[in-house]
Amino acid sequence: GGVAIAVSLAACSGEGAGGGGDTKGAEPGDLTIGVSMPTQTSERWIADGNSVKEKLQAKGYKVDLQYAGDEIPTQSQQIDQMITQGADVLVIAAIDGTALSGQLQAAANAKIPVISYDRLIRNSPNVDFYVSFDNYKVGVAQANALLVGLGLQNKDGSKGSAAGPFNIELFAGSLDDNNAHFFFTGAMDTLKPYLDAGTLKVKSGQTKIEQVAILRWQQETAQKRMEDLLTSSYNDGGKVDGVLSPFDGLSRGIITALQNAGYRGGARKMPVVTGQDAEVASVKLINDGVQSSTVFKDTRLLADQAVVAAEAFLKKEQPKANDTKTYDNGVKVVPSFLLPVQTVYKDDIQSVLIDSGYLTAQEVAAGR
Ligand code: BGC
Repeated sequence: GGVAIAVSLAACSGEGAGGGGDTKGAEPGDLTIGVSMPTQTSERWIADGNSVKEKLQAKGYKVDLQYAGDEIPTQSQQIDQMITQGADVLVIAAIDGTALSGQLQAAANAKIPVISYDRLIRNSPNVDFYVSFDNYKVGVAQANALLVGLGLQNKDGSKGSAAGPFNIELFAGSLDDNNAHFFFTGAMDTLKPYLDAGTLKVKSGQTKIEQVAILRWQQETAQKRMEDLLTSSYNDGGKVDGVLSPFDGLSRGIITALQNAGYRGGARKMPVVTGQDAEVASVKLINDGVQSSTVFKDTRLLADQAVVAAEAFLKKEQPKANDTKTYDNGVKVVPSFLLPVQTVYKDDIQSVLIDSGYLTAQEVAAGR
């Protein structure tokens, strides 16, 4: 009742009901946090959105959670609307890390703090905090998992029993996502000695991020690229031994292409395929011995950090960072809170994913 009216009046007057100003000492029920998520096509963003929303609501805040269907104009509009409706803090996981400068300027004008969620928003001075995982280490973990899967390295980092050489292919995420670059750099730094020594060969010759990136992280695009690679580079009888994939959705597209080309067992056994996010369909594939690994990022912990940061801003305090050097967004180094990641092989599903309550045994068995 009263609150809703106050909000719309303030929005009409162009001042923004909350929008920075007097959030200190305000009742949680009078404060709104705008949460802008990229897409519902990947499970992780649904889990992120729900966790952030539930955790904020449990503390009494109002939450405006929006998904943008991976469309940049939609995300811009949704954020514009959150600002005019008087959001007091914004939590944003950007589709395109460079496309929100206008929105962030409007937020700054209205004194609304902006928390960049998981993906760094670039080229704007108006990013107040960044909560994420250690994205470089995600890439390192993916490369190590590839080496372990191929037998070149053991899980403890010691030298494995295999000698190679092995044929691999590389995939990266969406170029407009800052994370994609961190993942790929972490992976390539780790694989470089093996590529230099010829132990690993990228038979297609495609080793630059621009050549291997998949726009908007789309599964179908990854499947198509893998099919094209098989046709262009492996029609001489050569075999793919491993694929560096930065995201479970891409991994499933890659696996489908490989399966369609006859990779299953025997001499044409499924290559070592990596992943990220512990999506349930991929965890089933890992359990079934089809996908080799995934990098698990506990989105519940990330949501916790977003809530901690939002509350700090509402109290007019600066959230505590654990990294103030790494994430230069092109205009400034954004104070960050980075969480650790965990590699999950088949043997780790129970202890890491099921015992922690992230997935149930039934979900893993069913793949959904
Ligand atoms: C996230 C990953 C996710 C990818 C695709 C990245 O920005 O950090 O966890 O796999 O986007 O949604």
